[in-house]
Amino acid sequence: MLYTSTRDTSVRVTAAQAIARGISADGGLFVPESIPQIDRDFLSSLVPLDYISRAKKVLALYLTDFSEEEIDYCVQGAYKAGKFSSEKVAPLKKIANGANVLELWRGPTCAFKDMALQLLPYLLTTAAKKSAPDKTIVILVATSGDTGKAALEGFKDVAGTKIMVFYPNDGVSPMQKLQMTTQEGENVAVCAINGNFDDAQNGVKAIFTDKAVGETLAKNGMMFSSANSINWGRLVPQIVYYISAYCDLIENGTIQNGDEINIVVPTGNFGNILAAYYAKCMGVPVKTLICASNANNVLTDFLTTGIYDRNRRFYTTVSPSMDILISSNLERLLFHLSGDSAQRVNGWMAKLKESGAYTVEADILDQLKADFAAGCCDDAATKETIRTTWQGGYLSDTHTAVAIRVFEDYLKASGDDTPTVIASTANPYKFSAAVLSAVKGEVPAGADEFRQVELLAEETGEPCPPQLFTLKDKTPRFTDCCNKQDMEAQVYAMLGIR
Ligand SMILES: *Cc1c(COP(=O)(O)O)cnc(C)c1O
Repeated sequence: MLYTSTRDTSVRVTAAQAIARGISADGGLFVPESIPQIDRDFLSSLVPLDYISRAKKVLALYLTDFSEEEIDYCVQGAYKAGKFSSEKVAPLKKIANGANVLELWRGPTCAFKDMALQLLPYLLTTAAKKSAPDKTIVILVATSGDTGKAALEGFKDVAGTKIMVFYPNDGVSPMQKLQMTTQEGENVAVCAINGNFDDAQNGVKAIFTDKAVGETLAKNGMMFSSANSINWGRLVPQIVYYISAYCDLIENGTIQNGDEINIVVPTGNFGNILAAYYAKCMGVPVKTLICASNANNVLTDFLTTGIYDRNRRFYTTVSPSMDILISSNLERLLFHLSGDSAQRVNGWMAKLKESGAYTVEADILDQLKADFAAGCCDDAATKETIRTTWQGGYLSDTHTAVAIRVFEDYLKASGDDTPTVIASTANPYKFSAAVLSAVKGEVPAGADEFRQVELLAEETGEPCPPQLFTLKDKTPRFTDCCNKQDMEAQVYAMLGIR
């Protein structure tokens, strides 16, 4: 099976090449030329298996140039016992409104990005061995919070890799900052920058694409690669858990094989919900994909009107990982819906770049409406939902609460009582202040991050994951803060070259 580019269908690469390169040279994203199909028998065969064995079978359909041994090595490394706080890796919980919450945050950093970023380093090093043996892979990440920590934890001490993360000094939560500055591992570095997330991202992009920097790396036996969510190696692990969730619903008697389900996803960059779309296209009986947004509701508008318009106010919300106005992975969906038309994708993306907006034609909008529903809610509704969901016995984080709220609104409006999976993307203790104020009504003045964690635990009796709680006693290793123009020097210093 080969992959092509959303912007040039003459491109044809293997899965290993797609993963090692990250993004196509024409600026497009790598997509499978055809989507592998699975049937009821395939799903039945997965039901008795554990997560690791299910993952191996699903990944083999996409990574056809990886040997069985290679896939086994990658998957065992990523999801082996002890890495996730549930032996199911991504367990399902039924909540009071009848929906099934899929907990994707049981990994080392308590965010759903672990599901992909625990596997990506293995996929990337295995892929690089095929095309660029003996090179050290250098990962640069600009982060607004969750991605940086999950990438650090995934690449920590992975042979043949080095990782450096830049974050905006005043742009991440205290918990997120501590998670990164206390990172362990011999091949990692973290640096704050004086600037915002865009400065960090632009700085990383500039270094990444600088020819001279690339040559210096090459001279030293190194090459850049990317761990951000446009890399196919981050998307493909996410398809697995939707298929696995469907099998769990069969296993626990909620559905019978062949019954339809709906899936609700709290969405930012459109990666997670796109993985659910691939699962649907593969043949998992998914009726409606419900895209949940916070006040930054550019996707709600797009999926209901066909008009994508990023020219709008940007809101900073209590669900910061969804504060995004350009959802990069949407490009992949548009490619598939247009019947693999790189020409049409190029047209839309050019308009987005020029004017920040584009409109898809009726043929695309009809398909969007057939596959997707969409909704959004503001911070007040998010917090109200955390409170009512907690009254029903389930403590959710802010991002998950957006999805729960959008699901409840959808249910009221449509009466569609199809069994539903809601993707839960973070542990509530990652966003203690907002969750505490939602369940308790207020946060006592002067309570710092760890006091808030204690109060939330007292209030709810829910345990805080040890990897968050013990941060309190750790001493930060990485205290550097640099200016934008010094990022390149920081990278060289970390790599020990010049
Ligand atoms: C990254 C993230 C999201 C958004 O996921 P996308 O794949 O970018 O749509 C939602 N919730 C949390 C907690 C996240 O970290």
